[in-house]
Amino acid sequence: MSSFKSKYEDELIANATYIGSPGKGILAADESTGTIGKRFSSIGVDNVEANRRVLRELLFTAPGALECLSGVILFEETLYQKTASGKPFVEVLKEGGVLPGIKVDKGTIELPGTNGETTTQGLDDLGQRCKKYYESGARFAKWRAVLKISQNEPSELSIHENAYGLARYAVICQENGLVPIVEPEILVDGSHDINKCAYVTERVLAACYKALNDHHVLLEGTLLKPNMVTPGSESKKVAPEVIAEHTVRALLRTVPAAVPAIVFLSGGQSEEEATVNLNAMNKLKGKKPWSLTFSYGRALQQSTLKAWAGKEENIPKAQAALLTRCKANSQATLGTYQGDANLDGATESLHVKDYKY
Ligand code: 13P
Repeated sequence: MSSFKSKYEDELIANATYIGSPGKGILAADESTGTIGKRFSSIGVDNVEANRRVLRELLFTAPGALECLSGVILFEETLYQKTASGKPFVEVLKEGGVLPGIKVDKGTIELPGTNGETTTQGLDDLGQRCKKYYESGARFAKWRAVLKISQNEPSELSIHENAYGLARYAVICQENGLVPIVEPEILVDGSHDINKCAYVTERVLAACYKALNDHHVLLEGTLLKPNMVTPGSESKKVAPEVIAEHTVRALLRTVPAAVPAIVFLSGGQSEEEATVNLNAMNKLKGKKPWSLTFSYGRALQQSTLKAWAGKEENIPKAQAALLTRCKANSQATLGTYQGDANLDGATESLHVKDYKY
């Protein structure tokens, strides 16, 4: 047996399996204070604690939305915030059948000697922080590693360093009762074609699962959050069915069947693209040993943010926009999405070059 024995083993497996339930997915609402500030400036809202709290309350109390979700990823500040009427957000989520998650990485720094490649920080005090987050109600965690595609990238160094960083993070989470979301995001930036993205995705995922095995991670108690396999942002787009075939093939070649679910990031796709691509994967016939669901940030929140624009009177409209996207993605996890959420603005690209979360 290669996995270590965690006293949380049964709980980790149950929670990872629950989060990956078909019909549900994750809302990534864990934008750091800096990142949410960029979103707020696009709608003319001040980046202060009160406004961040209002946005998160709007999201977590949107009628009907939690039924389409199994998890919400929070930034540390949000884990301790409450609704205007004084109910902790963690309680709101739990009552809605949604597990609270927590972003535990501390962002990226450059790897010296590379062409702008990065490694993710936050390992030093991670055990203590995970323990505290578990006590505060968190049941899963996220750590984002970032890789890029260009002529000589990703380098062997960056693949290795990010894979072992993710593995070390994953085992520390499991020692403390948190299901680790393993997120090696290969950025969409570039002019490469879909085959190049498939090749790099396979190399990166193969390295990650080697590292997770080396670190004795209990795979049944983890989730993978990968990019979809697509052409680069400066290359011609391809049909959702093509993305689905390339993505599922890359995953079949590299992700062990012991992993209960794969929860995709949206990575700058428009809201509608992220939904139809996920739907196409779930419609695809053939072997798929894990469930395929979502863990979207931008692709779940963009139309909600625009509808809200920081005004109290817009909250019902903003919550309706969130429900539209949540329902569409819930259907996409079952391959039953019919295209009816393709409303104004849902096809707008959300790509930001060299995106920092
Ligand atoms: P996007 O869906 O906006 O890419 O973000 C998801 C996420 O949590 C990235 O770490």
